[in-house]
Amino acid sequence: MVKAIVGANWGDEGKGKVTDMLAEQSDIVVRFQGGANAGHTIINGYGRFALHTLPSGVFYPHVTNVIGNGVALDIAKLVDEMDELKSRGVPAPQVIVSDRAQLLMPYHILQDTYEEARLGGRAFGSTKSGIAPFYSDKYAKTGIQLCDLFHEERLRERLTAAVELKNVLFEHLYHQPAVSAEEIMGQMLTLRERIRPYVGDTVSFLHDALKQGKTILLEGQLGSMKDPDLGIFPMTTSSHTLAGYGCVGASIPPAAIEDVVCVTKAYSSCVGSDTEPFVSEVTGQAGDELRRRGGDHGEFGATTGRPRRVGWFDTVATKYGCMVQGATQVALTCLDVLGYLDEIPVCTGYEVDGAVTDAFPTTPGLLRAKPVFETLPGWKCDVRGCTDYSALPERARAYVDFLEAHIGVPIALVSTGPKREDIACRTPKI
Ligand code: GDP
Repeated sequence: MVKAIVGANWGDEGKGKVTDMLAEQSDIVVRFQGGANAGHTIINGYGRFALHTLPSGVFYPHVTNVIGNGVALDIAKLVDEMDELKSRGVPAPQVIVSDRAQLLMPYHILQDTYEEARLGGRAFGSTKSGIAPFYSDKYAKTGIQLCDLFHEERLRERLTAAVELKNVLFEHLYHQPAVSAEEIMGQMLTLRERIRPYVGDTVSFLHDALKQGKTILLEGQLGSMKDPDLGIFPMTTSSHTLAGYGCVGASIPPAAIEDVVCVTKAYSSCVGSDTEPFVSEVTGQAGDELRRRGGDHGEFGATTGRPRRVGWFDTVATKYGCMVQGATQVALTCLDVLGYLDEIPVCTGYEVDGAVTDAFPTTPGLLRAKPVFETLPGWKCDVRGCTDYSALPERARAYVDFLEAHIGVPIALVSTGPKREDIACRTPKI
């Protein structure tokens, strides 16, 4: 049985915490896309962790954690993350990294950084982790697979060809020093020894696990709005953030994904460029207050520390975000954050060129869209840590009902704080 957990919005919906909960009930947790460019926050008995590449099952000894072929594999970052867990007393996790995963190379990070600098004010707000150049190279067929590290002649050949291309860009477009294939070769061979114990055929492993009836959790990164096809192009990421991509990035048969848990926050947040359309944004003092009170320590990026833009809940974006994920149920996080408000605006429509719509537009329409808000009464009390859904204030439950009616997918659980146990199940299904 395969369940996917994915984001309905711009990422940072609080997937880390819900994934942690679902990981406990799984045999295998798989990352199937993205790289170290985003972080999941997990708070448990070992402390507070921001995982970037490792799947969220690493805190459970019974879970096998798979880094699928669809991931942008930055070996240095992955082994650093494993070292950090060890130094903080977490028992060594079971990890298998796909031999088909492609390698995020040092020149990808350089290219990302140079390109953001070149674009200046037109930049996309990249985390400069090398993700866009990595995926471009994968599809241009100049990428290097993890398996290539174990065939030195092939590695040297592919690396030399890739570096030849990069150096044209580095020297002539960015006016930066050329990189040396031999130097990178040396670095990669050192990293090879660190990753060697974890490399495996995850495709066969996952198909065998399915035959044995194991429970597999696909762990998505970022959210629907960041998908390069169905998100807000080009303010997207470079890999597919949709549950459906698990079929490719983890090689899971499409019909095996039975359950898609979509995570959304009780308000909106968006990290990235200021030029990105963010229709329900709240700015000024009200925005500062929401940002300060959001998440477990304010709304600031887990990877970059950048302040996130914040907004009211957007049912237009979330309904669409759940639809393109194929959501079967929704987890609503951070309900506790809204307890200070007298009234809570919810964006239920977009006004585009004088007409109000609840259909999510393409980017040109989004850039012109103005929010249409409905206002609900606040519950004016602290619900942090509440685990009994029926014990939530009536107005808080009415808020959840209102969102559910608009997004059209059952909200199965409500998260009421950053800690693992701060969860109220609304239906027993999840
Ligand atoms: P992800 O990228 O979707 O995994 O998002 P993160 O987990 O990095 O970011 C969400 C932030 O919200 C983190 O700081 C979490 O600790 C925090 N968080 C998650 N759920 C809740 C919740 O129900 N209430 C509060 N106050 N914070 C939460």
